[in-house]
Formats: sequence, C-alpha cells, structure tokens
Amino acid sequence: MTRLVCPFCGPRHLREFEFHKTLPAPGAGEFASVYERVDSLELSVEHWQHVGGCRGWLLVRRNPSTGAVLDCRLVGGGGAA
Ligand SMILES: [Zn+2]
Repeated sequence: MTRLVCPFCGPRHLREFEFHKTLPAPGAGEFASVYERVDSLELSVEHWQHVGGCRGWLLVRRNPSTGAVLDCRLVGGGGAA
C-alpha cells in the first residue's frame, strides 16, 4: 500500500496520511471495543487522517495481509461538502 485515494483530493502518496487507530470489528461489545486487539488477517478497519492535504478523517478498510485497500471514505459517510 503506497497510495490512498482521498474522497476530496484523489490518489495521494501514503506519506501524506497519518494512521490513527484500528477500529473494532462491527458488532463488537463495549469491552471488546476497548480492550481486544483486532487481529483479522483479511480485514482491518482503520481511521486515518489526510494531514498533508484536506485534513479530512478517513475510514479505510484494507486487507492487512496484502496491503490492498478495499474502501476509503470519509468518517461519517458524508460526501464532498
Ligand atoms: Zn484529502
């Protein structure tokens, strides 16, 4: 993974983005959300920020085994403002 596609800015080099955290699996309970590590080999859901561009917060779904980005959209699901 060397590039992310920002919904505002288009494809940009990964160095423009800053990783924030890995999110719990959908449906995880409160305890799991706080304390359990996410270690799926097929799917990782993460928060990134485009610090070198629009500074938007992004929800990135990717396969940590291959580095392939499955989906990249704004946190909250909104489109372009
Ligand atoms: Zn951007």
